[in-house]
Amino acid sequence: MNINEIFLSIQGEGVYTGEKMLFIRTEYCNLRCSWCDTKYSFYEGKYFTVPQIIEIVNEYRNKNNFDWICITGGEPLLQRDLNDLVGILKDGYKIILETSGSIDIGKFLPLYGKVYKDIDFKLPSSGMYNKFNYANLNYISEHDYIKFTIDDQHDFDIFLNESEKINYLNNSIQFIIQPVWGRNSKWLANAFINAKVKNTKFMLQEHKYIFGDVRGI
Ligand code: SF4
Repeated sequence: MNINEIFLSIQGEGVYTGEKMLFIRTEYCNLRCSWCDTKYSFYEGKYFTVPQIIEIVNEYRNKNNFDWICITGGEPLLQRDLNDLVGILKDGYKIILETSGSIDIGKFLPLYGKVYKDIDFKLPSSGMYNKFNYANLNYISEHDYIKFTIDDQHDFDIFLNESEKINYLNNSIQFIIQPVWGRNSKWLANAFINAKVKNTKFMLQEHKYIFGDVRGI
């Protein structure tokens, strides 16, 4: 697998915010979101075999305690050995997969039922709208969620529309909305309060408030 970085930190986004996690960031992404905060992961990476990654995980575990491993990117589903890695880690850890939502999760990760899933739904401001792969709705369980990053009113309107459509197909899916980092988030909080939304939480990127917008956190 091509790995960009491995580090221990606090999950700052989504339903599992606040959990201490070991982050395994893979190299490369098939999308190019306008506000991407991990562009450095596109082309910076080094190949590690699955046993080498496990060795690194074990080194962290020998020095610290953590129950969670977050496999993020880039886009982790592009890594050929992802299923093998999950097959080994699943017995010792809770694993969360962060994915762009554009790739069929079940096809590229047959062990999808063994991971928690943070699935993005890209909105127009990202420049990647219409990339969501609706097959992914088949792989979502009650501990997974779909995350919408919102930059303006148009994004919010599309979120309302898309979440309603998804709710119609599966009314137990959880949604997270979060503002693009660095933008004023008050208008979005107010829009959320005043909108008739279901199964939705408004959240911020907590890790960036703690550490800033830097790498390895
Ligand atoms: S999907 Fe994620 S990693 Fe890929 S370009 Fe968009 S924000 Fe960046």
